[in-house]
Amino acid sequence: MKTNREILLAVRDGLEINENQALQLLQIRNDSEEFYSLLSVANELSRQEYNNKGLVFAQIGINAEPCSKNCGFCSMGREHYVLDSTWEKDTDAVLAEANLLIEQGVDSLFLMTTANYAIEKLLKIAGQVRSVVPDRVGFVANIGDFDTEIALKLQEAGFSGVYHIHRLREGVDTDIDPGRRINTLNAAQAKGLEIFYCIEPIGPEHSYDEIITEMFRAKQYRAEVMAVMRRIPVPGTPLFAKGQIPAIELAKIAAVTRITTRPKRAMNVHEPNLMALFAGVNMFFAEVGANPRDVNSNTEKSIGLSVKGARKMLWEAGYAE
Ligand code: SF4
Repeated sequence: MKTNREILLAVRDGLEINENQALQLLQIRNDSEEFYSLLSVANELSRQEYNNKGLVFAQIGINAEPCSKNCGFCSMGREHYVLDSTWEKDTDAVLAEANLLIEQGVDSLFLMTTANYAIEKLLKIAGQVRSVVPDRVGFVANIGDFDTEIALKLQEAGFSGVYHIHRLREGVDTDIDPGRRINTLNAAQAKGLEIFYCIEPIGPEHSYDEIITEMFRAKQYRAEVMAVMRRIPVPGTPLFAKGQIPAIELAKIAAVTRITTRPKRAMNVHEPNLMALFAGVNMFFAEVGANPRDVNSNTEKSIGLSVKGARKMLWEAGYAE
């Protein structure tokens, strides 16, 4: 069995690590010297492989409505809806927000809907928005589950990728069959849509084994952009009482995820925080509209970071635009 130091040296030499080694790194104590060695290697990889470039992605939540999937952490679950209102944005409103975000220089633009939102409506809006998204900017759908037919339609509407994941305790903390999530990942991959992956929503009750399972799933789907997200305890949601993990623990999970999954383009953390920028994270999201982690349905007026705010944080950590 390799020591932590040997594993980190192997990572520096470009070697891939296995599940047991990833688990061993997650078990590093947060108050130890090794903790800093781990962060240092993840940080070094990102600075070198991403040319020290910080990225800003943006997401527009285009509807705030009760969702039948009832995810226990989400403010929009139908059985515990705690957003301050319900609404849907029309094409003009989404287009205006997209234009503004593009003007501000975002590197990728995501459109998010609840799982029940009609795909035809999304495709109609996406067709309009695509016309203002330059080719250098990724265009990504964050929607409910779909099959290969819909995957093809998403592609035809101009989406280059999808944010899609198998959540921690999918089917237990959500009303979604885990198999459906996997089928959707397979459909996206089969049609050549880029998969943006995240280990989420991490809470104190999740074991390192559960986290590792999602790390290696991301590897299986060759996610080039990877993320980790700690659960925000939203008052009124079923998982609120379980609390949250501290930022230092999230930074460690980000570092191990960065080292294990080796995303080629970017590493992200939710919610944005400076500590994670020393653990291999080089990308933050700006958010507009509905957000499962907020009770304000216009998250830009609450916890949602602006493009300017995201750039400022990346700059503070020494990342260049
Ligand atoms: S996280 Fe998504 S699928 Fe789950 S309840 Fe919220 S909107 Fe629905």
